[in-house]
Amino acid sequence: MLRVELLTVGDELLLGDTINGNAAWLGQRLAERGVQVTRSVVVADVLDEIIEAVREALARADAVITTGGLGPTSDDLTRDALAKAAGVALVRDPELERRLRERVAAAGRELQPMALRMADVPAGARVLANSAGSAPGLRVELPGGPVYALPGVPFEMRTIMDELVLPELAERAGLPAVARRTLRTAGLWESVVAARLAPVEEMPGVTLAYLPDPSEVRVRITAAGDDPSGLLADAEARVRELLGDAVYGEGEETLDRVVHRLLAERDATVATAESLTGGLIGAELTKMPGSSATYAGGVVSYATGLKHRLLGVDDALLAREGAVHPDVARQMAEGARDRLGADYGVAVTGVAGPEPQDGRPVGTVYIAVAGPGNAFCVTRPRLPVPGTGAESRAALRRMTVVHALDLVRR
Ligand code: ATP
Ligand code: MG
Repeated sequence: MLRVELLTVGDELLLGDTINGNAAWLGQRLAERGVQVTRSVVVADVLDEIIEAVREALARADAVITTGGLGPTSDDLTRDALAKAAGVALVRDPELERRLRERVAAAGRELQPMALRMADVPAGARVLANSAGSAPGLRVELPGGPVYALPGVPFEMRTIMDELVLPELAERAGLPAVARRTLRTAGLWESVVAARLAPVEEMPGVTLAYLPDPSEVRVRITAAGDDPSGLLADAEARVRELLGDAVYGEGEETLDRVVHRLLAERDATVATAESLTGGLIGAELTKMPGSSATYAGGVVSYATGLKHRLLGVDDALLAREGAVHPDVARQMAEGARDRLGADYGVAVTGVAGPEPQDGRPVGTVYIAVAGPGNAFCVTRPRLPVPGTGAESRAALRRMTVVHALDLVRR
């Protein structure tokens, strides 16, 4: 078995200013691929500490992956540490220097002399091209085995890992080729998704990973064998069949993008009326460049009186039932659609907590969508509230956003 150790470099990790997401992600990624991480160490931005940590790790493991400390500033010491550990000098790579100058020029900036450090590599090291940013990764062969040094910026680190490091490690470990795809679902609990997909878990060569966010579950399908792409296609078809329209997209296709795409296809717009989410749905719907084509605008009617004055919700209804009621949600959605001149209106009203409101318990949420002709409301009475206080409030608001976008999509 191939033994891999992780070395995440950075004072900010030790001080707790940055959560060590890189180590978590690398651990997951490698395990999924069948490579087990045997140890993970965090080390300060101190040259000798890094050198010592690398040497210790290679005394035990077959390969080491480091993240962080490859940038241009004086506290970025990983490349110096690796050169020292290898007993070689840092040499400037002309190709890297050229590309660095090009990037800086293209951005209309001036090259800082210090930035050229990013073109320095330990003599004999292999450059791991960074298609996502400026600091390249490095592969340095040391007496105990190779060190793969990756940048600290998570997105860049992941890109280099997936493109270059993981395939190389998998090959060294003698693992079969894999194909992989992530499907995105909304509206189902992780346990429900997992229960429905039990038959797919039985397919030889197929593994599933569930990646939950509030109200969203991403399902990553990995297929390994002689024909991984063919197996992946079969597994994906099964997953889609078993989950039905809970699957809303794949890969990086987030819910806001799907809503935008569906509306754009119909040449339609949506307006929002928000209470407990305070504008979060609008924020979500304006994330995409070009969202003005599909998002008309919104009303944040937090005070009960505003639901009447700005959206035309029936006064008597509000007086009788309070603000948290399915008919209020429906009328808010119609009000947003009509008063903001959109084709669709989506509205949410509910109790985010931590205290109950108008006698309704925390987690009572009503979401309504008004279409071109009609309006309907999906009651989401009592969304389960994870945790307590501010945390549950934030989670509940986030869940409400997801449910609302999911309802618009449908
Ligand atoms: P850069 O070229 O951007 O300077 P770098 O290789 O020097 O990259 P760092 O300076 O150590 O990397 O970190 C860059 C950013 O990545 C920081 O914002 C840091 O918070 C984040 N980061 C670094 N290490 C980790 C980690 N282990 N987990 C999550 N985020 C990290
Ligand atoms: Mg840095």
